[in-house]
Amino acid sequence: MPIRATKRGAERTPLDRDCDVLICGASFAGLAVARELSETGAEVLVIDRYAIGERQTSACGIPTAWLERLDLQGALQQTFSELVIHTPHTTVKYRLPWTFSTFDYPTLCELLADQGRFTFETAKVDGRTGRTIHTDRGDIRATHVVDALGWRRVLGAGENIQPPDALLSRGLEVHPHGSGSEMEIWIDRSYVPAGYGWSFPAGEEVRIGVGSFDPRFHVREPTERLATDLHTPAVRYQGNWIPHALRRATEDEVFFVGDSAGHCLPLTAEGIRTALYFGLAAGRELRDTLSGRKSPEDALHSYDAFSAAHATPFKWMLRVQRLVPRVAPRLLAGSLRAMQSRRFLDWAFGHYLEIAHPRFVAADPRPAEIRLSVP
Ligand SMILES: Cc1cc2nc3c(=O)[nH]c(=O)nc-3n(C[C@H](O)[C@H](O)[C@H](O)COP(=O)(O)OP(=O)(O)OC[C@H]3O[C@@H](n4cnc5c(N)ncnc54)[C@H](O)[C@@H]3O)c2cc1C
Repeated sequence: MPIRATKRGAERTPLDRDCDVLICGASFAGLAVARELSETGAEVLVIDRYAIGERQTSACGIPTAWLERLDLQGALQQTFSELVIHTPHTTVKYRLPWTFSTFDYPTLCELLADQGRFTFETAKVDGRTGRTIHTDRGDIRATHVVDALGWRRVLGAGENIQPPDALLSRGLEVHPHGSGSEMEIWIDRSYVPAGYGWSFPAGEEVRIGVGSFDPRFHVREPTERLATDLHTPAVRYQGNWIPHALRRATEDEVFFVGDSAGHCLPLTAEGIRTALYFGLAAGRELRDTLSGRKSPEDALHSYDAFSAAHATPFKWMLRVQRLVPRVAPRLLAGSLRAMQSRRFLDWAFGHYLEIAHPRFVAADPRPAEIRLSVP
């Protein structure tokens, strides 16, 4: 259970302190790291420029099993067993070997935060000198530092990652009120030359958006057009840059997790389960070093190697991301139809889930005290 010390306006007092672990960023990656440290007794401080769950950072679609394994079903909004893909020449319906769900962002963040034990402060991170983190409320000194701040990689050495030259995609969506029963995507050059559009129903709203793999291509107009084509108003915008290449997961004694380490999958831009997955991995390494089982150097090294060991699927997905826009639309339609066989879908989506499989949640069970208290 986090101790909240959110300060607004005049209450925003200077923040000048020390801690054992400083986790910068309180979204998927940062909260997953914190979860793994709940029983260490370490002084864990989590900071974010917004309150926990205040600013939604995605369409919030995830393989359902990740919600189940992390005991986050309370945030679930809708579940889909099929993926509908539209192109100008065909529409295919893929029956998935596992289901995908949309969830409520503030609820999921609350539930995940409740699994950790940390102090939370709102502060904007500006940079660092060694393991001293500079924020708009003062400096924080930490023995261990985690950057879970998203694509900007604020705590990286050198200049921040800057669009449009970095390996980034661009995503924007609108959240009109409405309902639907299908998870749909559009691979259609009239919306975006390289990328895709989506419609994810989530309870009483539908998340409709467009992602462009080419960061120079603006997505506001196509997002609004897709919403209009779906007879919904373009309201409540939410957008961001999305990394589509792995980056070093450690640098100068800092753990980078989630988008800051480029952990979002190319091609699909699915970055939530990978942020959770690598967050758990980083948290377990930190747990080992806090308990004295590993030196800080070994923990950093193991986490870096763990992240790098996923390079092959990330590279393959980037290759496909670059290939799909080059395939002639009629050929693409034929290929998508040919891929409808149950056997192929089980194989393809099975491999896709393996990249960050939900079984990883239980791969390293929580500490003994917790296991013993479960009936
Ligand atoms: C439009 C869109 C739709 C998407 N839809 C999906 C989807 O349906 N499914 C999916 O799996 N992925 C989706 N993604 C990708 C997914 O959102 C990201 O990969 C995921 O959010 C990464 O999680 P994270 O915790 O690493 O970073 P983030 O979720 O970006 O969190 C970073 C946190 O750091 C904080 N922060 C940033 N800078 C600072 C600073 N300087 N100081 C203090 N705090 C700071 C932010 O407030 C935020 O809380 C989508 C992306 C976009 C843009």
